Amino acid sequence: MGESVNTASQEAAKRVAIVTGSSRGIGKAIALRLAKEGINVVINYNSSEGPALEVVEKCKEYGVDAIAVKANTADQKEIGNLFREAFKYFGQIDYLVNNAGVVDDAYLMMVPKDSLDRSFEINVKGYFYACQSAALKMMKRGGRIVNISSVSGRMALAGQSVYSATKGAVNSLTQVLAKELGQYGITVNAVAPGFIQTEMIDAVPEEKMQEYLKAIPLGRQGTADEVAEVVNMLLGPAGDYITGQIITMDGGLSL
Ligand code: NAP
Repeated sequence: MGESVNTASQEAAKRVAIVTGSSRGIGKAIALRLAKEGINVVINYNSSEGPALEVVEKCKEYGVDAIAVKANTADQKEIGNLFREAFKYFGQIDYLVNNAGVVDDAYLMMVPKDSLDRSFEINVKGYFYACQSAALKMMKRGGRIVNISSVSGRMALAGQSVYSATKGAVNSLTQVLAKELGQYGITVNAVAPGFIQTEMIDAVPEEKMQEYLKAIPLGRQGTADEVAEVVNMLLGPAGDYITGQIITMDGGLSL
């Protein structure tokens, strides 16, 4: 087993994180939080180049280095290229945050095949291929993987058969990989948020959202910054002995 990169004595400025889908929303908040921690960041986007470049500049304001790499995480070759570019530039990859995801809610009989395929390609196969690429880079010196899942991975909401199935798969993947990769000093965890204020939930009708809010003991949506704090915790010393966990942060919605 190689020397772990996760010791508190390690120089933060040398660590490098790839955050998929970090041009906006939760991924952007994670990238900025890690940059604030002194971690170099690879910003990944698919279509939002301008916003991705803005995130790069904001990261640099924290004194770290950052680059933006376009890659559609539904495509295994593009994920391979993302890791190659990141490695070529930084020479190491210590952390992967699998975050790029889509939601496409519809009742069972109304789910179009292309929506089903796209959701599994991005939310499941994309995470899987990125984990493969990350593990290859981390096996010698250890590393950490955080998969952004969802409370929908274990809580049933009508109309979310596809999304729930993809996030349930992410949870299972996380636990199996924690067992497989522990011997290399690689931790694998998932963060499962409830409703978080981003563009993703803009499509939820206001009436429906009011219903959900009544079911949340804390009585509000979460913020992307709150998710970023949990990810940062898992990548820091507090996460040294945590692996295979699905950390739910939903204001109590799933209780
Ligand atoms: P969002 O605001 O819609 O942002 C999605 C991000 O993913 C964007 O940066 C987008 O970049 C990127 N992306 C989408 N498809 C991509 C692809 N094929 N390749 C590369 N990048 C891609 O979503 P969010 O709310 O921040 O969600 C982020 C993650 O949190 C997702 O996995 C989601 O399932 C999970 N989550 C969200 C909530 C919530 O309430 N918001 C709750 C639980 C879990 P481009 O614009 O460049 O495509």
